[in-house]
Amino acid sequence: MSLDFRVFPSGYLQTNAFLLTDAQRGEAVAIDAPHFLWNDVSPVLRDSGCELKALLLTHGHYDHIGDAARIAKTGAPVYGHAADRAMFETPEMMRSYAYPPDIQLEGFSVDHWVEDGQSFEILGTSCEVRHVPGHCPGNVLFYFADLKTAFVGDALFAGGVGRWDLPGGDFEVLQTSIRERIYTLPDDVVVWPGHGPDTTVGAEKATNPYVSAQ
Ligand SMILES: [Zn+2]
Repeated sequence: MSLDFRVFPSGYLQTNAFLLTDAQRGEAVAIDAPHFLWNDVSPVLRDSGCELKALLLTHGHYDHIGDAARIAKTGAPVYGHAADRAMFETPEMMRSYAYPPDIQLEGFSVDHWVEDGQSFEILGTSCEVRHVPGHCPGNVLFYFADLKTAFVGDALFAGGVGRWDLPGGDFEVLQTSIRERIYTLPDDVVVWPGHGPDTTVGAEKATNPYVSAQ
């Protein structure tokens, strides 16, 4: 495997987006699409000779999907969980939470609905989907076992957890998601959240002040 991995904190809230590229295969995958991401990603794709084969969305909050409509128009198929369908198709519904208030919000269609426990092959490796609601109903993580990395959206942060006070959020549900679907990954798996630095499953199990391992 010859995967290259880059993090692009982008958009108004410095949302982490990720680009996995395999120059040998000429293929790439993006995870999440904050506003203006395509400005940063398209030159990397061009220089590496890679085609974007998928846009994986961890959830439907506006700061994770601001550039998704634009990227979908390039022909890259979009993956997301159906519980956030309304936010994907009508991001306008989150307008009252958006910053800045006049932010551009454009809906788009998801091509592949993902489900808990599903795995699919991409970039010559396997990606497992786990449903981790509680921050919002449709938050999923994408776990690449070969990379020992999970992209968890806003479910879990280094030393923190996602907000549960937004529409569809629920702290009890979030706790269960983290304990049963994130803390059950191997301890040495790197966790990349939607904001801030990376961490590991083991570190959060040992020290996360919001959700203990038991
Ligand atoms: Zn969010």
